[in-house]
Amino acid sequence: MNKVKTIATIGPATSSKEMIKSLIINGVDAFRINMSHSTPDFCRDIVNKINELNKELNTYIATMIDIKGPLVRIGNISNGQAFLKANDKIRIFMNPVLGDCTKFSTNYPGLVNDVPVNAILKIDDGVVQLQVIDKGMDYLLCKVLKEGIISNNKSINVPNVKLNRPFISEEDKRTIKFAHELNVDFLALSFVSCQEDVLQVNDLLIDLGNDHIQILSKIENESAVEDIDNIIKVSDGIMIARGDLGVEVSLERIPGIQKKIINKCHNAGIISIVATELLATMTNNNHPTRAEISDIANAVLDGVDAVMLCGETTVGKYPIETLKILERTIKAAEVDLNYNYMMEQAIKTEKRDTTGSIAFSVTGCANKLQCKAIFTPTMSGHTAKKISRFRPLCPVIAVSPNIETVKSLALNFGVYPILINDLKSLDAIIEKSKKIAQEFLLLKPNDTIIITGGYPFKKVKHTNFMKIEEI
Ligand code: PGA
Ligand code: MN
Repeated sequence: MNKVKTIATIGPATSSKEMIKSLIINGVDAFRINMSHSTPDFCRDIVNKINELNKELNTYIATMIDIKGPLVRIGNISNGQAFLKANDKIRIFMNPVLGDCTKFSTNYPGLVNDVPVNAILKIDDGVVQLQVIDKGMDYLLCKVLKEGIISNNKSINVPNVKLNRPFISEEDKRTIKFAHELNVDFLALSFVSCQEDVLQVNDLLIDLGNDHIQILSKIENESAVEDIDNIIKVSDGIMIARGDLGVEVSLERIPGIQKKIINKCHNAGIISIVATELLATMTNNNHPTRAEISDIANAVLDGVDAVMLCGETTVGKYPIETLKILERTIKAAEVDLNYNYMMEQAIKTEKRDTTGSIAFSVTGCANKLQCKAIFTPTMSGHTAKKISRFRPLCPVIAVSPNIETVKSLALNFGVYPILINDLKSLDAIIEKSKKIAQEFLLLKPNDTIIITGGYPFKKVKHTNFMKIEEI
């Protein structure tokens, strides 16, 4: 059982029920459906399959929908693609035109107003680069700096330029409603640029009456990096989306940004996720590079909650093999994680309340006594998240009668949520915990576990006691 969680993005390579099942069996904790490349029908089909498999396998794998966000994209090109030659001139029209090697249109007509002359446009993650040399009423005249092929719907990043595009498009609004109807567990927000963007989505969820879905803000441009402290305050988690981030800011800044954000998330007690190119070469090869393994291990050693596969599982040739390597790498790196340091860091920023203090003591005690598991009965998941922040050495088994709570804990470091019947007394919880410890964790006589919760049972909301039990 790894403590760092894994997310797999579903795409054509993994959309069959057999593949999803195999990913679950090999350790995936949550699945992402990326709406930049999926239709609502595809999305519904995948969510249904995951729900079915959860029932069949008795698992609680979470679902995540990733909204498109305000990324600018190329319109249609004649024959689907065109080659742009270095130093050639090309016009980008604000009204729809069928593109070729001299012109194309975009899905954002405001581009002509927002982008200044001399700005650099990066197409398809920077595969092709243009520079704006002049502007017309409804077009940008550009020079091709880096030649290559452009095709339908490819991304256009404009580094360091603030676009005055509303954060939530009508399409994204429909997607959010759709995510609500499908009752997914996480909503990933592409191209968040400031706290206000996240708040807008939060308002929409309040209007929909949804208090389950957790918001993951994807950090993929400079302004989000600048506003990170405020974004963290209103998000349930942060995804360091290195794909687009590496187009918008220079690549060499990514490791530093990643480390700082993981640390800030840990201090704030929210989820951190490192995404993209973890095992990029395994998209086409059946073995990883040393640098990839090192990258994953470093994210683990820095205290990340979860890591996410993208192309490796959407279009890769070896999705299962990739996942196996990822899980093995996490397992090995977790041995070297500085658990005590993580705990000391957490206590420095912990609010002085009862639940936080108990969570700290439980972790310290579990580590000292080499307990095999911490059991925490939870209605909201709050205590389990608090304990996770202190990074105990043993697993945190969150037992809850609420399926939504169980699924909401899918991405928290070291937390293993289990659905149980609504138990009537503390004694019943203790008995149940011991049974789970024997059955699922294969604990033996004399092994110890810690049980923490609220006493008197169901009368207090916060966690206020811990009990050490021998199997
Ligand atoms: P994407 O996000 O796959 O939705 O682009 C991840 C990233 O940019 O790294
Ligand atoms: Mn992205």
